[in-house]
Amino acid sequence: MASANTKLERRDLGLTGVKLSCIGFGASPLGNVFGAVTEEEANSAVRLAFSLGINFFDTSPYYGGTLSEKVLGKALLALGAPREEFVVSTKCGRYVEGFDFSAERVTKSIDESLERLGLDYVDILQCHDIEFGDLDQIVNETIPALLKLKEVGKIRFIGITGLPLGVFTYVLDRVPPGSVDVILSYCHYSINDSTLEDLLPYLKSKGVGVISASPLAMGLLTENGPPEWHPASPELKSACRVASAHCKGKGENIAKIALQYSLLNKEISSVLVGMNSVRQVQENVAAAVEVTTVGKDEELLKEVEAILEPVKNQTWPSGIQKS
Ligand code: NAD
Ligand code: MG
Repeated sequence: MASANTKLERRDLGLTGVKLSCIGFGASPLGNVFGAVTEEEANSAVRLAFSLGINFFDTSPYYGGTLSEKVLGKALLALGAPREEFVVSTKCGRYVEGFDFSAERVTKSIDESLERLGLDYVDILQCHDIEFGDLDQIVNETIPALLKLKEVGKIRFIGITGLPLGVFTYVLDRVPPGSVDVILSYCHYSINDSTLEDLLPYLKSKGVGVISASPLAMGLLTENGPPEWHPASPELKSACRVASAHCKGKGENIAKIALQYSLLNKEISSVLVGMNSVRQVQENVAAAVEVTTVGKDEELLKEVEAILEPVKNQTWPSGIQKS
């Protein structure tokens, strides 16, 4: 088990000069989106994560209808750590009420987020799930509005997030170089779907930092399985269940194998895992330390890959445009 003096690997985030821990703390579970979490549990999980070297925390006003931002903000404050020792990313444009990427909304949104988080600035502000917006508005209106927020010091860096990978190239091919600092992709760099890999050389050529979220495929690659709302097909869910049972039969946890797989590509600055308990933080940090010191379990990984082969790179529709 990872101990308090564990040094988690840190990686450069594109050209930002920021170094992120290779595991980032995904705070969507703190908005109760994977089941109820008490504030006490949330505080303990964040505290342990920070003490084990996790310096990157990701949230959004959308997660739990602003709850995740509030809970994360309190937990970070309770650390009593110097502000420059942790990196906070939140998002704009997606809310429980719906999507709004207008300059007016995102400009107001950051003030609301800072208030909930109890911070003077966030390190990264990302346009949340842009495939649900008009991509030309993102290019011509949203990013310019975020550049103004950067000028006044409310944010340090600008990002975009989404599921279909085509949205990243669409935007990055049209904005001035250097205006988008990072992208956050999810569910495209895990054992069952590794399609982000093909985009990495392009992202590097654009000088954009890469954050990859959901290494456990939003619960598909866990023993407990995904939440009710998970959008995967019955076929993909069932293949993941078989893979999980296979690992269990060998005395291993599929979550560990899955996280280690995602961590091995160093072109990805940080792998964001959703965590809501001390136990998950301990397991995930231990998995990261193990893979950098001992290496991955090649044999079991091959077996899991073989089980998932028939559903490899299967995804689901998201957004209002074709990917
Ligand atoms: P994930 O793949 O990280 O899975 C999270 C689920 O796995 C949760 O139920 C969590 O409790 C569970 N889990 C974590 N560690 C475990 C372990 N060791 N053993 C068993 N179960 C474990 O998916 P996610 O939470 O959706 O993604 C991670 C984070 O990335 C999010 O919290 C969010 O911050 C970010 N994200 C952003 C976007 C976006 O911007 N569009 C999309 C997806 C995720
Ligand atoms: Mg999300």
